[in-house]
Amino acid sequence: MRYKYCPECGAKLTEIHAGDDGMVPYCEACKKRWFDSFHSCVIVLIYNEYDEIALSRQGHLSDRYTSFTSGFITPGETAEACARREVREELGLELESLEYTGSYWFDFREQLMHGFIGFAHKQPLVLSQEIDAAEWVPALEAQKTLFPVGPGVALYEVYHKFLRMRKLED
Ligand SMILES: [Zn+2]
Repeated sequence: MRYKYCPECGAKLTEIHAGDDGMVPYCEACKKRWFDSFHSCVIVLIYNEYDEIALSRQGHLSDRYTSFTSGFITPGETAEACARREVREELGLELESLEYTGSYWFDFREQLMHGFIGFAHKQPLVLSQEIDAAEWVPALEAQKTLFPVGPGVALYEVYHKFLRMRKLED
């Protein structure tokens, strides 16, 4: 998101030259530059010792498709801490390992998605109110109900990285 008005004083912004960043919105009153902002989020694929992955469904997103655990990183939190927190809150799981898979830009929502693969031994999922349903699903079957997305999208990239890591696809 590109700022048009100062988030602090409400004045209409002008622009100032900021080195390699080019022209940047600027508040003359506050003497502050307002760089473009976007959300940082995590998306976590969780698997167990049977190569099943935890899929959840949130009604407000879709009543048909499932996804991995995801959420917004809050100020002061690392992406890793956020990943563990979201998994604990949404599914009641404590991850035994957590591996970063990379970051992916989601243009539609202007979000930088940080991808993770986490491991937890198989146990019942304890859902938060945000989640309508969740279950352990064999990894290869998951693609039948996952959001239909293609290369470049975090969900797709993390899922296929996992399949390659577990030698479930070439
Ligand atoms: Zn201002």
